[in-house]
Amino acid sequence: MSAAPETFNPSPETQAWLAGEHNLLIDGQRVAAASGERIEVFDPATEALITTVAGAGPEDIDRAVAAARKAFKGEWAKLTSYERARLMFKFADLIEENMSLLAEVEVLENGMPRMISEYTIAKFGGEFVRYFAGWVTKIHGMTIPVSPSEARNGESLTYTKREPIGVVGAIIPWNAPLAMAILKLAPTLATGCTIVLKPAELTPLTALLLGELAQQAGIPDGVVNVVPGYGQAAGAALSEHDGVDKISFTGSTAVGKSIIKASAGNLKKVTLELGGKSPFVVFPDADMERVIPGAVRGAFFLQGQNCMASTRLFVHEDVFEPVVEGIAAMAGGMTPGPGLNPGSMLGPLISGDQRDRVMGYIEDGKASAAELRCGGEALPGKGFFVKPTVFGRTNMDMKIAREEIFGPVMCVQAFGDSELEDVAAEANATIYGLSGSVWTKDISVAHKMAGLIDSGQVSINCHAAVDPAIPFGGNKQSGWGREFGMEGLEPYLKTKATTVLF
Ligand code: ADP
Repeated sequence: MSAAPETFNPSPETQAWLAGEHNLLIDGQRVAAASGERIEVFDPATEALITTVAGAGPEDIDRAVAAARKAFKGEWAKLTSYERARLMFKFADLIEENMSLLAEVEVLENGMPRMISEYTIAKFGGEFVRYFAGWVTKIHGMTIPVSPSEARNGESLTYTKREPIGVVGAIIPWNAPLAMAILKLAPTLATGCTIVLKPAELTPLTALLLGELAQQAGIPDGVVNVVPGYGQAAGAALSEHDGVDKISFTGSTAVGKSIIKASAGNLKKVTLELGGKSPFVVFPDADMERVIPGAVRGAFFLQGQNCMASTRLFVHEDVFEPVVEGIAAMAGGMTPGPGLNPGSMLGPLISGDQRDRVMGYIEDGKASAAELRCGGEALPGKGFFVKPTVFGRTNMDMKIAREEIFGPVMCVQAFGDSELEDVAAEANATIYGLSGSVWTKDISVAHKMAGLIDSGQVSINCHAAVDPAIPFGGNKQSGWGREFGMEGLEPYLKTKATTVLF
């Protein structure tokens, strides 16, 4: 395994787009930051500068929020639900038509293999936007039989309306920039809200590109505003802003906590999708042909920079050795490289800081009693590549097993013929509760264990099943609220109850 061998150039179309001036998108206009700040964007596979983008500060956030407020009451509010849905379908079509450009830009700014980016564009660009577009015409309230005050039966009417919550401030991370942006845009548009979207400073390009496509789809100016900027400046200003009704945040648990505090000023509604340390529990009768690739995919998808990653395997002692051996062989055979290289199976980590953080955990693991079964090193040369790393014989007292690493590091722990409750207690011995999976052919064990795992999502004989219709979100310190599915609309709506006495 050697360092990134060759660089594959993006298409002329992508190069032309990258050569443009990347400013903030506010009220349909591309504007420089008030301070004139520019943020440099690097390719994590080569460490080369890709381009620069305008970096928003508090003054720009004020402008973007004002634009979103104005748009919330403007032309957008007057569209029928059918017209709003049609704009969303058009947006989905444009995302798919621009698949190649979007994928190349995402690969360059994030590092993920191209096939992964294309998969996320199909799943999130096409299916996710259309799924939410389907809801637009089905959002409605109820009539409720009541007898308020002195009214007699039939002398009053109470009905509820579901109204858009207002201006959404969305703050997203760098690990899957395109999917994350769409996760926030789709429910915003479906419910008739407007948005100020702040992408991560490391990966601002795909969000800007999506903003352009939303404009092309005919979504009115000011409905979608995109403001790249640093977390401490733009992110904090957005979370504190009195003109924002709701924050939808995806990122680390630590930043999630600061967003809650910042949001207290006007008691804005907050949903949070935070960290994870998801268990993957393998019983001895499980289908090993599925377990091994499932564990490798679950842990090393997006180089492990994935909140749902299967970072903690609990494997029954009877099958422990073959499982660990199979995983180490498969993970060790993954070819790292720049995402535009068709042979790359594993991209770089997002930055030098992230690589150093992850290597700190790996060194900690090496110094512990855990067995290093593969990887354990960063690749020399340019690019922030770290080999897929598997530690066997871990336990929940070890830092590598307890803390979210957000890198390609898997911990494998053995269990014996214990009660399911005891296995579940170990699986739940973390502050997180986002995802988890159970692998067995025994349906009673599968469902009992699925019930015992304390997480927002459990998969049986697969890991981290993702579909626009499956509610997604965390228990414990993995977050507040759910995204995806019917429940994913709720945080973007408010209920108004109206009562009339005849
Ligand atoms: P990660 O660990 O994935 O980098 P972070 O939680 O650090 O996740 O960042 C996710 C997003 O939160 C990014 O867009 C970042 O700019 C933003 N962010 C970071 N700090 C703050 C903050 N104090 N307030 C608001 N947003 C922030």
